[in-house]
Amino acid sequence: MAAEINKHYLELKESYLFSEIARRIREWQAENPDRAGELIRMGIGDVTRPLPGAVVDAMIHAASEMGRAESFRGYGPEQGYDFLREKIRGYYEGFGVSLKEQEIFISDGAKSDLGNILDIMGEKSRVLVTDPVYPVYVDTNVMAGHSIRYALSGEENDFLPMPREDYAADLIYLCSPNNPTGAVYDRAQLSAWVDFARERGSIILFDSAYECFVTGDLPHSVYEIEGAKEAAIEFCSFSKKAGFTGTRCGYTVVPEELKRDNVMLNRLWLRRQTTKFNGVCYIVQRGAEAVFSEEGKKQIEENISYYRENARIITETLDRLGIYYTGGKNSPYVWMKAPFGLSSWDFFDRLLNECRVVGTPGEGFGKSGEGYFRLTAFSTKENTKEAMRRMETLFR
Ligand code: PLP
Repeated sequence: MAAEINKHYLELKESYLFSEIARRIREWQAENPDRAGELIRMGIGDVTRPLPGAVVDAMIHAASEMGRAESFRGYGPEQGYDFLREKIRGYYEGFGVSLKEQEIFISDGAKSDLGNILDIMGEKSRVLVTDPVYPVYVDTNVMAGHSIRYALSGEENDFLPMPREDYAADLIYLCSPNNPTGAVYDRAQLSAWVDFARERGSIILFDSAYECFVTGDLPHSVYEIEGAKEAAIEFCSFSKKAGFTGTRCGYTVVPEELKRDNVMLNRLWLRRQTTKFNGVCYIVQRGAEAVFSEEGKKQIEENISYYRENARIITETLDRLGIYYTGGKNSPYVWMKAPFGLSSWDFFDRLLNECRVVGTPGEGFGKSGEGYFRLTAFSTKENTKEAMRRMETLFR
């Protein structure tokens, strides 16, 4: 009798997006060896600014603590150290959300928990994701054998799909500010989703990985919406906020009010984490704590402002060229319509061949992304300016 594998893995579609981008770049480089150095990458979703000094100092200090018998620490609490949970609790107070420490679970980043959360959900969950979509939501649900339905979006709803009767689902993934579209739900729109979920007993899985880019009165957290604690789990990350993409730290909020079948999901998640996870590295959690220090906050704001300025350079160019886009104002992503009626990939090729600029074809994020293109603000200011200057030459 042979062991059975999880056959749902065989149903996964090969993710060809980034490998196809890499292949086309390689081909271009082979044909243009003398120009290879001119390539500007505006497609990456990774940050480029280094960790803030306050974070680095805190991690050095924590590392030296670990090297001395009197301050050494072994296994920490699976759900994270109180010193960091307390800081996150305080951060939420800043936008009027009151959380209990035990509702906050420190993670090694949002991606892991976005996948792991399915451990505590029903076996045959019906799932709603938006299209275009951050592919992790889709693939993790395919792996779990769940059925997936797509809420289509486009210019008619500014890439912010709203609830519809036929969108009823057990789990609803919302990402705001959105990757890839940069679009942000306002309070009224988010309230409509929260009400929709509450009325049907659905659970919203709210990805706020880019909340640090939000300005003005737009919500940073789903819990700013009345009733959301009974209907939503929130996933957040230090990756984009503080440059932790390679350092790895985030948090997941599971409110005690969230119950299904009379069971608190908070208890299930605690049980899941204490069984399958041994916590985030002490040194990294001390680094994350420094994100909330006065010095840390200042340094982080400088980095975010740097990316915001890049986004402004991109959107200003698009405004001048009269090209439709979403994002860029409260997000490091700008989602532009491919000009001249080009498909996503045809625009990719033109931008690469004629401007030596690389972006991400929208079609790679779902069929509603066809005809659109994602640019990111994570490049350097000099490169962002130069990329936009070159892009404008296409229109002459
Ligand atoms: N959620 C979204 C929408 C993302 O775009 C990303 C990373 O790009 C993540 C989550 C993953 O974040 P982390 O680095 O915390 O795993």
